[in-house]
Amino acid sequence: MQVGILGGGQLGRMLALAGYPLGLRFRTLDLSSEAPAGHVSELMAADFNDTDALKRFARGLDVVTYEFENVPVATARFLSRRASVYPPPEALEAAQDRLMEKRFFERLGIPTPAFVAVDTWDDLKNALNDMGLPAVLKTRRFGYDGKGQVVIRKTEDVSQAWQSLGGVPLILEGFVAFEREVSILAVRSRSGESAFYPIVENHHHEGILRMSLCPAPGATSELQREAEAYARAALEALNYVGVLAIEFFERDGHLLANEMAPRVHNSGHWTIEGAEASQFENHLRAIAGWPLGAITTVGYSAMLNLIGTIPDLRAVLATSNTHLHLYGKAPRPNRKLGHITLRTATSEARDAGLAALQQIVGQPE
Ligand code: AMP
Repeated sequence: MQVGILGGGQLGRMLALAGYPLGLRFRTLDLSSEAPAGHVSELMAADFNDTDALKRFARGLDVVTYEFENVPVATARFLSRRASVYPPPEALEAAQDRLMEKRFFERLGIPTPAFVAVDTWDDLKNALNDMGLPAVLKTRRFGYDGKGQVVIRKTEDVSQAWQSLGGVPLILEGFVAFEREVSILAVRSRSGESAFYPIVENHHHEGILRMSLCPAPGATSELQREAEAYARAALEALNYVGVLAIEFFERDGHLLANEMAPRVHNSGHWTIEGAEASQFENHLRAIAGWPLGAITTVGYSAMLNLIGTIPDLRAVLATSNTHLHLYGKAPRPNRKLGHITLRTATSEARDAGLAALQQIVGQPE
């Protein structure tokens, strides 16, 4: 079976690596001929709006998926006339716009931070009057890794925030004083079978994920059930096929949905070593129309992202229980270059190993 992946970043690369043992073959489409998935798949460099290139890309493909959510929805729809496209383009559409996404959650009864659409300076002032401070102003589209958003803490910050983001459709959200951030990775097959990995605790710095812990320390079965119920509602509403990630804020023992990603997700990288079937394998099983693999965890996992620089690899590799993944990208500030998963038999060993690894990798400045 020949799988097409829109986007040739590290997620596409890890999808391909997970798919070869299953006998799958891969063609990826990316703007750049240097994209990291090109090392392990047939890479086509073209614009996502180039319909001639899309026709060539689609030739011989059985199924098409995507690995980043800013693929134009029109591209996914165009390809869906030539091959099966999963997850459904409607999921892409809902996730690309923070306002549509929050309304989608609201419709399904999934709690979110307070939010309101902001298009003009007057909208912003009215919204702040209703919502109060602090608040978070975000662009509705094309935000990622903390880009396209500003926290407004005091009245004097408002015009600065408007100057930096205004002019495009925005959303204002109430600032959530959360206890922690968690996410759930859910997967649904073509036949409607679904499975949910245990929730993960995520640590961000400057809007970029730095570390995920699975299982999330102290997570109760009630919290897991809550996350699963929300994820299940989203999967069913979209008649979803593939892996869906939902990121939450945890406050007072309950969850508020922040955003969803209709694709494999950085907070699920630990599953490569920390679960029977990884998120990558399960995404592929789902879109290929096959039964899902077991989501059962294997031990305790911690995933550390390598951002901007590559640490001393000899020291990393000499540390017990570590699994190194490099994406073949040139170092650049704030770029995700790889990750390390630490997998241990006990949570104590995870804590000890993590302290040692953080020494080697360095803390974000
Ligand atoms: P996002 O791009 O929406 O995932 O936001 C990036 C990070 O900003 C999140 O992981 C949070 O740490 C923080 N953040 C985003 N929205 C809010 C909010 N409404 N309240 C508090 N923190 C937020």
